[in-house]
Amino acid sequence: MECRIIRIDDQTWRLEEEGVRFFLLTGSRSALLIDSGMQVHNAKKLAEGLTALPLSLLNTHADRDHIGSNAEFDAVYMSPAELVNYPLAKKASDIIPIRDGSSIDLGGRRLEIIEIPGHTPGSIAVLDVERRVLFSGDTVQDGSIFLFGPMRNIPAFYHSLKRLEGMTGRFDLIYPSHGSFPVKKELISRLISQTAKLERGELAASEAAFMGIPLKRYEADAAVFLCDADHGEKTERSAQGGQRPSGNSGADDKEKSGKGTEGEAG
Ligand SMILES: [Zn+2]
Repeated sequence: MECRIIRIDDQTWRLEEEGVRFFLLTGSRSALLIDSGMQVHNAKKLAEGLTALPLSLLNTHADRDHIGSNAEFDAVYMSPAELVNYPLAKKASDIIPIRDGSSIDLGGRRLEIIEIPGHTPGSIAVLDVERRVLFSGDTVQDGSIFLFGPMRNIPAFYHSLKRLEGMTGRFDLIYPSHGSFPVKKELISRLISQTAKLERGELAASEAAFMGIPLKRYEADAAVFLCDADHGEKTERSAQGGQRPSGNSGADDKEKSGKGTEGEAG
C-alpha cells in the first residue's frame, strides 16, 4: 500500500494514503503519531524512519481508516468515550485516556486535547499550541463527512463545531484527515451553517451507497454530508413530534453499523 510522506516543517510530517492522511509530530524529547493510517500496517516503522525519538500514538477517533497500524503499538492515547467505537479485532494496545484539556508535551511542543463528539462519540481535535495549528480529524474537512450509522450524532457534531468556532483565536490553520490540506479556519463557520441547514431539511439529497449501505448524500458547498438513508424522514418525524416506527428499524441500524465499520474512509 502506497503511503506518501510529505515534510511540512522540521518537526511535522503528513503521511498520505489514498483518501486519508495521518501525521507525525516531534518535539525535543519525543514523537507522536496522530492516527495510524487505513491500509498501511507499518506506520510505526515509517515514523521510525523519520525520527529516532521515543514514539507514541494518539487516535483522533477509532474509525477504521485511522487505526490501521494500531497493533504495532503497546498503548494509544484515546478518549475513553471512543471505546464503544474501537473494534476489538483491531486493537493490541492499552488505552491511555485523554480528556478535554489534557495536554501532551513532546518537549518544547505542547499539544492540547479538545473533545469534539459527533462524528464519533470520542472524537478529539489536537491543538498544537505554539504553532497555532489544529489537527481536526474528520470533523473539520472539506471532503465527505460520514454522519451515518449508530456512532454519529449530528446535533453533537454541530455543537462541537460551534465550540471550535469559539476557539479560532488560538489557531491559524487546520490540518484535517481528509479532503484539502491545509484548510482555513473559516471552513468551521461554513460547516456550522450547512449542518444547521442539513438538520432543518434545507439541503437537497441524492441517493448514494457506501459498501452496500444505502445512504443520503447532501452536497453542501463546504463538504459532502453522508447520512442515514432515512435521515430526512427522521427530521420530519421529530419535527412533528413523532417517533420512529417500532418495527425493524433497530435491526436496520445494526446492519448498518456492522457494514459501516468496514468503510474505506471518512
Ligand atoms: Zn476518517
